[in-house]
Amino acid sequence: MRYAILGDIHANLTALDTVLTAIKAEGVDRILSVGDVVGYGAAPSEVIERMRELDVAVVKGNHDAACVGELDTTYFNPYARAAVDWTRDSLGETDLAWLRELPLLQHLDGCVVAHGTLTSPERYDYIQCTEDADPSLDELDVPVCFVGHTHVPVVILRNADDPTRTSYTTESEIDMSTISRAIVNVGSVGQPRDEMPFTGYALYDTVEQRVWIKRLEYEVEREARRIRAAGLPGMLADRLFLGV
Ligand code: ZN
Repeated sequence: MRYAILGDIHANLTALDTVLTAIKAEGVDRILSVGDVVGYGAAPSEVIERMRELDVAVVKGNHDAACVGELDTTYFNPYARAAVDWTRDSLGETDLAWLRELPLLQHLDGCVVAHGTLTSPERYDYIQCTEDADPSLDELDVPVCFVGHTHVPVVILRNADDPTRTSYTTESEIDMSTISRAIVNVGSVGQPRDEMPFTGYALYDTVEQRVWIKRLEYEVEREARRIRAAGLPGMLADRLFLGV
């Protein structure tokens, strides 16, 4: 199987379409998404439509949950909360029902998909260091768990020859044949936060036993205009140019 895995899209249609065009040339069998399909950006309905059309295996992110009233937004920053309210008001009942029905985990051949962690996906905890990843690595019974949530790509892993030690890599091509288990954070399609204003995605080939993290330029200005035109906070447009 050859998978393309999409990180937090956050209703950024220009970034998503740039990624989907690139994926077409990759001979992918199935597209997966680690959730946060909506929130922050101004094209939630169009992005959900793409997910449906392409039969993407999506899990529910914290912004997706917040938009359907399943998560208290008290602890969201004011910009995120404004975007949740805007998204809820702009989506029709069919799209809201689609978000509500998203599962917290997707189990596929050779991998599993979660938003924050594998062990308690409903808590939306962050994996930001090797210690955070250990419980999920302990529970993992397939080679890879794909996650998002931090919007920063990184691979946290245990090597086959030293399966008790957890380490990490930020390399863009990972040979999985020497790795026993890995948590792969695929970064973010629609709101990168590693100070690089590029979209991106991951590829996973279960036969070649390789993972690639890809980054691509996209037309940021176009998406920033859409955010401003929608009346969303201008900061949500500005941050796309900085990758923060
Ligand atoms: Zn997110």
